[in-house]
Amino acid sequence: MATILHPSPIFGPILSRRLGVSLGINLLPADGKVCTFDCVYCECGLNAERVPHSKFPSKDDVLEALEVRLIEMKQNGPTPDVLTFSGNGEPTLHPQFGDIVDGVIALRETYFPNAKISVLTNSTRIFQPNVFKALMKVDNNILKLDTVYMPFIEMVDRPVDTYYDVDLLVAQMARFKGHCIIQTMFLCGQVDGKDVSNVGDSFVEPWIEKLKIISPKMVMVYTIDRETPLRTLKKASREDLDGIADKVRKAGIVCSVSY
Ligand code: SF4
Repeated sequence: MATILHPSPIFGPILSRRLGVSLGINLLPADGKVCTFDCVYCECGLNAERVPHSKFPSKDDVLEALEVRLIEMKQNGPTPDVLTFSGNGEPTLHPQFGDIVDGVIALRETYFPNAKISVLTNSTRIFQPNVFKALMKVDNNILKLDTVYMPFIEMVDRPVDTYYDVDLLVAQMARFKGHCIIQTMFLCGQVDGKDVSNVGDSFVEPWIEKLKIISPKMVMVYTIDRETPLRTLKKASREDLDGIADKVRKAGIVCSVSY
């Protein structure tokens, strides 16, 4: 298994397919993964194989390490396009998430005021008032919605210790009033011998109906980029991704594609 864990609390910068030169902020432990999903395609590996032994970094640890790295980048480059909360799991699980977002915004203003701040989240915690408030403050509030079909979510995203109801989730996403980006993973292959391809019309059409309710500023369509824990998964084809993006655009929503 060639899945990867990221250093914590700061990693990169990396050249992201979707975001450009991205400096990573990993609020999870460096030696494992913590997430309210256990996606079969997760590049960090499966939850059971990645149980961390160390603690979450503190707010001070995160902000001090970020400032050191931003000063280095100011002196030696490169200029970041974006400071991205991602890493070894779900960033909004950090108990000081809101305060850390405030601190990152302040450091961004000091060192790279043109850089965007992005949060990649699986959306399971957007009902928490403090998480919702913090996500409203960042430039790119990027919310996962891989499908609106519950059996697929249970087989592929696999919520852990969390109640997941698509209609409630979509209603909450709509409360961002357009201040959100929806990210959707399209893939093919099998899980436990069952087909999990979500590129067909039976998945795409109902998903687009929910997108119309959410009315995001953008949709990011993407597919598997790195090795996955399950070798039975495959990338969605370029043709399928382009066709899906066209349908989103015809619904009047901006859509990007990463192959
Ligand atoms: S939501 Fe992201 S971090 Fe969590 S299991 Fe899925 S891919 Fe991995």
